[in-house]
Amino acid sequence: MESTEYDILNYDKLKKQLSFNFAENKAINDLNIKPDAFIPVLFSLKFGGDWSFKTSELEAMAVKEKITRYNENTGEGYTLERVTLFVNPCLISNEGKVLRLEKCGAKNERELVERPFRVKLDAEDIVQAELNPKIMEISLKRIKGPLSFSGSAAYGVSHEIEHLAGCERTGKFLWEFKYRVQG
Ligand SMILES: [Zn+2]
Repeated sequence: MESTEYDILNYDKLKKQLSFNFAENKAINDLNIKPDAFIPVLFSLKFGGDWSFKTSELEAMAVKEKITRYNENTGEGYTLERVTLFVNPCLISNEGKVLRLEKCGAKNERELVERPFRVKLDAEDIVQAELNPKIMEISLKRIKGPLSFSGSAAYGVSHEIEHLAGCERTGKFLWEFKYRVQG
């Protein structure tokens, strides 16, 4: 069969994907981290959001923060994604109570839950991944705990810690809210 332009494009894509997978494996190796522990980072980078993963040997969770850097003068910017991976995390403290609606990937409805506004946690191992869409780079570095998060990332930590502990709370649903028309 003659090779078409389409085949060449597909071949190029496949080649890039294979070398991406190779670089991914090399990064995991260079970091000297168990491949299982890195899974939540891969999920967070590939599918977005926060993820946790548990085996009989380890617990791991990845929490994503989105940081937009915008230049008012040029009118240009980008959203950096910072994914922090915690291997065998341990929660040190919770502060505040925030009511919010959350949609868990494992459920099909949003629920009203209470989350801490601020959390402090540590882990056996902490790795920070930063995806920069401007330079198309994913950088990885090991960092020292304990770390504190507030707002969105704190809600994510609390949600994923609950998954790891296997004690998800169930809250009220949207259809239990009342509508009120003002005026
Ligand atoms: Zn969830």
